[in-house]
Amino acid sequence: MPTRLLPPGIEVFERGWLSANNIFHFGDQDVSLVDTGYCAHENLTIDLVRNALNKNSLSRLDKVVNTHLHSDHCGGNAALAKAFHCEILIPAAEEKAVSNWNEDLLSYQNLGQECPRFAHDRLLIPGQEILLGRYVWQILAAPGHDHHSVMLYQPDHCILISADALWEEGFGVVFPEIWGEPGFEEVAQTLDLIETLPVSLVIPGHGKPFIDAAKSIATARSRLDYLASDPDRNARHGAKVLLKYKLIEWRTKDLDEVNHWIVGTPALKSAAKQLNMDLEDFIKWLPQALVKSGAAKLEDQKLIDLA
Ligand SMILES: [Zn+2]
Repeated sequence: MPTRLLPPGIEVFERGWLSANNIFHFGDQDVSLVDTGYCAHENLTIDLVRNALNKNSLSRLDKVVNTHLHSDHCGGNAALAKAFHCEILIPAAEEKAVSNWNEDLLSYQNLGQECPRFAHDRLLIPGQEILLGRYVWQILAAPGHDHHSVMLYQPDHCILISADALWEEGFGVVFPEIWGEPGFEEVAQTLDLIETLPVSLVIPGHGKPFIDAAKSIATARSRLDYLASDPDRNARHGAKVLLKYKLIEWRTKDLDEVNHWIVGTPALKSAAKQLNMDLEDFIKWLPQALVKSGAAKLEDQKLIDLA
């Protein structure tokens, strides 16, 4: 089990797809949590932190650190700040968006998602270091999936917290490309950066920690080639991921309401445009595409999530 490779003072709360993994760091001087899951799971996130504090005879959570501000990574921020009076640290590039809670800069409206408003206390600046629990971590820029994302790297133990830049089998949707901004090149650069690091354990944003970074980098590169060689693939994949994510939360939803959400979600409208589909065709295609891939079923005009 790779988690046995975790040094003392680090615990990974492996979550699912709706909530990203949370990484709990503790030492004498600092107790921190990296990423906080989705808002619908905020009570579970608080319980996980409380259990870890109790188990390790700790009295406080000092800070929350977000690798990036997608709703599955920071949806628990507001609830944790309220429950533990902890500081919140966000990637420096998100300062303007969070200070004014600017919906045009934040991703939630664009992606049709929810995230309770929170305030940040400090910034994560790529190139600088940060104490998490008992170890000092390097803050690395990780553009691609999200251009403002950071990763965290601990050089003594060769541990990488990769967020959605590298999973055991791939990486997060290259969202910028869906609305016509470059992203594939940035994904490649971030993979190149990871390859330069001695890594003995990767803690990804989703899925279990894994040890074979080289194999995952190779898988990610071949996936990237597949997507970049035809941007329609990325648009189709991104649209399916966005609907699936929403459906995990809904579990079941009337098709009319699903369609209403699709046409009200700007990123999906961008995907339709990329695919040269008008919205009428797109709302016929997208739920069916999920069904075809085995991620959902349609019954009595309801779309139902399949795990
Ligand atoms: Zn993400």
